[in-house]
Formats: sequence, C-alpha cells, structure tokens
Amino acid sequence: MNVAPLNDDLRSLYQEVILDHAKHPRNARLVEQHTCKAQGNNPMCGDRVTVTAQVSDDGRLQDVGFEGKGCAISIASASMMTEALNGQTVAAARQLFDTVHDLCTGKIDAEAAKAKIPDASDSVDKLASLSGVRQFPVRVKCATLPWHALMSCLDGKGQMTTTEK
Ligand code: ZN
Repeated sequence: MNVAPLNDDLRSLYQEVILDHAKHPRNARLVEQHTCKAQGNNPMCGDRVTVTAQVSDDGRLQDVGFEGKGCAISIASASMMTEALNGQTVAAARQLFDTVHDLCTGKIDAEAAKAKIPDASDSVDKLASLSGVRQFPVRVKCATLPWHALMSCLDGKGQMTTTEK
C-alpha cells in the first residue's frame, strides 16, 4: 500500500504530541492491584518498560500503568497507550495493538487506522503521531515496545524483547 510522505506541518504536530507525552507521561506508575505484569526490553535502543494492568473478571482493563526508562518515543508511546486503553476491553486493546503496529510499520495511514476502529478514532488520532517512525526500523521497535509488553502482560508472559522488524 502506498503511504503519502508526511508534510512538514503534520510532522511538527506529531513531534509536539510525542514530546508532550515524553515530558509528562500519563499513568507512569505501576498498578498496585495488578493482575498481570510484563517487562519489555529493546536492546537496539536501550529502552526498558514494565507494564502492569488490572483486568476485571469481565475482561476490561480497569487500570493500566507503566514504568520505564528509554527514549522519548518509547515513553511517549507507553503514555499514549495507557491513556488510550484505561477502561477498554482486552479485545479492544488487542485491536488497537494491531492498528498501532500497522501504523508504525507503515502498513496503513492515520485515515485507514481510524476507519478500521471508528470507536477509538480519538485515540488513533493521537497514536498516529507515532507513525513518523516508519522510516526508521530501530524507532519502530521503540514505538511498539510498550504495546508488545502489554500483550505479553495480557497473555501471561512476563518478559519480552523486541526482535521483530
Ligand atoms: Zn528507543
């Protein structure tokens, strides 16, 4: 699929969103009453993130938080992820993971992502700011690291390392 190059206005808007979340990360805390916990590691960049979540019996993410050290992209992505997913169902979280993954690897653009999950178009709008990483394979791992960690958390696997492209 062809994806149009970002114009300069869009690029600087994206950078603003990322810098805001990197400087003031949301939910940057471990959830005390967590039902799952997973640590993600991106050796290419040195990012480390621990994701904790409290999942209710009916499959809803009642609380999601993270602790991490890493580059602006990895922290911003983790922050946006927790903001987007708090209160969502596990099924919605998996769907958003797929969409963010496709955005970051350049498979789809922001409009296609919004069309895919119209219910979450506000979240997708913000998360689309991560799509600027698509030209930089190392940065793709930074952006997707917290999401992979969350999936490991939900799948009951305690640790993961980003090795995929
Ligand atoms: Zn990084």
